[in-house]
Amino acid sequence: MNAPDGPGTRLDPWFDSYAARAHAMRASEIRALFSVANRPEVVSLAGGMPYIGGLPLEEIAEMTRRLVLEQGEVALQYGSGQGDEGLREHITQVMALEGISAHPDDVVVTTGSQQALDLVTKIFIDPGDVVVAEAPSYVGALGVFRAQEADVVHVAMDADGLVPEALEATLGRLRSEGRRVKFLYTVPNYHNPGGVSLSLERRPRILEICQRYGVLVLEDNPYGLLGFDREPVPALRSMSEEGVIYLGSFSKTFAPGYRVGWAVAPHAVREKLVLASEAAILCPSNASQFAIKAYLDHADWQGQIKKFREQYRERRDAMISALEEHIPEASWNVPDGGFYVWVKLPPGLNAKSMLPRAVTERVAYVPGTAFYYDGQGADHMRLSYCYPTPERIKEGVRRLSTVVDAELET
Ligand code: PMP
Repeated sequence: MNAPDGPGTRLDPWFDSYAARAHAMRASEIRALFSVANRPEVVSLAGGMPYIGGLPLEEIAEMTRRLVLEQGEVALQYGSGQGDEGLREHITQVMALEGISAHPDDVVVTTGSQQALDLVTKIFIDPGDVVVAEAPSYVGALGVFRAQEADVVHVAMDADGLVPEALEATLGRLRSEGRRVKFLYTVPNYHNPGGVSLSLERRPRILEICQRYGVLVLEDNPYGLLGFDREPVPALRSMSEEGVIYLGSFSKTFAPGYRVGWAVAPHAVREKLVLASEAAILCPSNASQFAIKAYLDHADWQGQIKKFREQYRERRDAMISALEEHIPEASWNVPDGGFYVWVKLPPGLNAKSMLPRAVTERVAYVPGTAFYYDGQGADHMRLSYCYPTPERIKEGVRRLSTVVDAELET
């Protein structure tokens, strides 16, 4: 293959050697933003970084010290490809909070749920296979699907999450076109970036439709325990053991730095996931898994989640009241959990082309186009309220309003 003209490609002497899937890989819009958004003078409403400052750091430091001194021989060694059995036992208890009954043998520990997304995609997707996903959908999952050369077909969401009728129509159309749909990728709770949740009433309907079309459900649920006003809703996995692969994570309920997530899958799928994970990383980090076990054993982790919920609720409130005050000409949903507000810009504005101006005004967000496979979404942006303090959030939205005003004038 000849290198198409372009500065990046001509500078890379190995361009012609890459596999087709490497050509399909792209830097996400979020990644390109990170270097700018992390500058101290910029209020970043872009990344989904949890508020680590809310954790009991002294207690965690002491646990880590004891862990290394008392269990270092094992914790600093290689471990099992499927993950530490003790941690898998704990994970089943965490999932019980969302109605899931699973055996530790059903669980595969992964390096964040991101690795689980990669493994599931590797074992199911051949180039050109279809993944059905919400419109919009999590940017990191889209990156994985692209890297494995899947085709993503988006299905509409509304305030109650994925719309069953739209799913049914899409699966029917894809079937009549002879396309191979491998799975439905869904974030049913406090969607990233949509902020909405799939209603309880729709859950069995979505499962029934997928079952009828022979489509597996990939349920990605990092935010399910982070609701502000209500108790967790039963997971899709709690309603179907054979039709759902469930992904969980300690990134938002504890800390992403440990990079520990997990997958729960039907037995045969689980075997493939373990093989794929062993090929990729041999085994997940024992040190991280032991640290999480110690935290779950000794810290008040449920009390900490409650604190996170209160902190994030306060930040959500700060963002919504700042939007009402400063950018009333935009529209948005009010999320009742999670990290994100999905904002529709006033007519005529383009979130992607507006971004350089926003960065000049020292505020960052993610343009809606990052969350679609096909370039839609320029009329939206995702604002995250998880990381900045309420004061910084207000200042960030105020800065954003000057950008919106300037754009409306040009
Ligand atoms: N899925 C969703 C919907 C997410 O928002 C994220 C993190 N932003 C992930 C998966 C990945 O999380 P992790 O790898 O840290 O578990």
